[in-house]
Amino acid sequence: MSGIELVVLLKECYGIEDSTSQLLDHSLWCEIDPANLTAIPRQPTGLSGATVVTPFAFRCFQDMYFAAHLQMHDPVPDVQAAIEERKRKMSLTPWNSGPVSRPPPCTVNHANQLKIRKGDVICTNPNAGDQWKRSKSEVWYAYVSGIHIDRQRRTKLDVLWLYEPSDTTLENAYYPFQNELFLSDNCSCGEHGIPLEAVVAKLDVTWFVTDPHAVKGYFIRQKFQTVEAEDSYGFVTLNSKDFNRHDSHLSGLRAMSTVLQSRAERPCMPVESQ
Ligand SMILES: [Zn+2]
Repeated sequence: MSGIELVVLLKECYGIEDSTSQLLDHSLWCEIDPANLTAIPRQPTGLSGATVVTPFAFRCFQDMYFAAHLQMHDPVPDVQAAIEERKRKMSLTPWNSGPVSRPPPCTVNHANQLKIRKGDVICTNPNAGDQWKRSKSEVWYAYVSGIHIDRQRRTKLDVLWLYEPSDTTLENAYYPFQNELFLSDNCSCGEHGIPLEAVVAKLDVTWFVTDPHAVKGYFIRQKFQTVEAEDSYGFVTLNSKDFNRHDSHLSGLRAMSTVLQSRAERPCMPVESQ
């Protein structure tokens, strides 16, 4: 709840409060009113005012300006066992799992020796087009959603782009799985499909992963979606319908945040009729 919503709620309650309603005595306020947070008694920490965090949370924020105020601490054994069990049941990232490094970049293959099919994941040269010059990545990743021949008889690939963690709102923040890619709703289709010659390699990717630690190479388990109406982004569990949806393609691409600016400028137009 935002501060403004709280103020509105409080004001309304003051307006209708009478001797019988006891609205302002409700226990809810001590859970949501920042000036009156007494629902949970303050716990002694003995850590000189530092904010206690788990080792995982510490790794996430250790490079931030406030890191000096973080005190890494493991939970007591009973609590830790309960956490590990719950994470295991929910297929969440295991407790205290270490970072997974990025697999070696795609080795360049000759595109004309590659058999590209719909459903493949490919690596492309980011400098294949002028509009891509700002990218610093060695290669870009894409899911092939279709293949067609254009009017000049060239083979073109319709693709949904795959993002690396740093291409999302995670940007340069710590993220434990550098071998994870995210399906995007950003496509290059039709006349703006990428030419077959821009493909430098095919990539083995494991889809719909539930235990990231069981995978050595690249994997994809989430979609990084854009909700244009709300000007917001988010990570959602991958759905098989996502492979056929070209949201940005259908609605026309809008400028996105600076994080995604270079990718947002990739053209995305309706598929030309064959
Ligand atoms: Zn498209």
